[in-house]
Amino acid sequence: MKNQIKKIALLTSGGDAPGMNASIRSVVRACVFHNIIPVGVYKGYDGLIEGRFEEMNARSVKGIINKGGTILKTARSEKFKSKAGRYEAYKSIKENKIDGLIVIGGDGTFTGGLIFSEENKFPVIGIPATIDNDIFGTSHTIGFDSATNTVMNAIDKIRDTASSHNRLFFVEVMGRDAGHIALNTGVAGGAEEILIPEENLGLDRLIQSLKRSEKTGKSSSIVVVAEGDKTGENVFHLKEYVEKHLSNYDARVAVLGHMQRGGTPTCFDRVLASRLGVYAVESMISKKDGNMVGLQNNKVVLTPLKKAIKGVTKINKELLKVSDIMSI
Ligand code: ATP
Repeated sequence: MKNQIKKIALLTSGGDAPGMNASIRSVVRACVFHNIIPVGVYKGYDGLIEGRFEEMNARSVKGIINKGGTILKTARSEKFKSKAGRYEAYKSIKENKIDGLIVIGGDGTFTGGLIFSEENKFPVIGIPATIDNDIFGTSHTIGFDSATNTVMNAIDKIRDTASSHNRLFFVEVMGRDAGHIALNTGVAGGAEEILIPEENLGLDRLIQSLKRSEKTGKSSSIVVVAEGDKTGENVFHLKEYVEKHLSNYDARVAVLGHMQRGGTPTCFDRVLASRLGVYAVESMISKKDGNMVGLQNNKVVLTPLKKAIKGVTKINKELLKVSDIMSI
């Protein structure tokens, strides 16, 4: 059957994540491979509304597979949340004779993309790229592996200073609604406790655990705290609380912040981004739009955008158990 898709627009939206550039590269080159013109849209949905389009070719994406951030820039667009804004975007798309749109981002990006697609009967496909790994329908989002390695390296460095001074460190990591970064990096960095949004371990348990560590001869401790931790305490309050109840501890706080989003993507993220970009273009060609491309059991799969948005990713309970056992 003749390919009816002549031009595909692509954009990155929401929070940036390492590997977004690798996905842009993959979508662009897969388009060129299939004789489709790739059109980059600058600054996410704002760029779609403002008509910030640029036709790309295989060479436009040279030298970016190893770069963090996104060459297309990203944005959180308020205008796109209104019907009028989305209609403006649709007009830009039609003026530029675009036949399909690939959106690279998190669940907010997919929500916007789905509403846009339903309102205008326009084909949209999503590629999951967010450091939080909180998208249903894929075992990994692009950026998660890189961010967790960045955090793990930071914890290793903090551990050096913690053990030199016999200190307790609270390390705050990203994850307002999901504790995947905290749980994985806590296990990888040998944290004594991990506080995440999905589980309320309670402050008493934290104190008990630190007392136990002290008794068993630990001279320093690391507690990894996700931003959205269920105790409801911010990381500085946690430090004060612990110091009040455990006078022997000299506690410090390290908030890792935006460094977690930056840096060169890992091998895993580059490969994932390359696979998902190709699959997104091929799914658009075979009219399987309305879906998100993702990875399950190391196979590329499609999940309806509706499901990807509504579904909830579960925390890995086995990892919680492993973390408990490791911190005896
Ligand atoms: P991250 O997980 O990294 O934060 P995200 O894609 O979830 O990424 P958001 O800021 O939530 O980031 O969403 C990105 C953009 O998607 C928003 O700025 C907005 O333009 C669009 N969007 C989100 N929700 C909606 C909605 N309900 N209707 C229309 N557009 C939306």
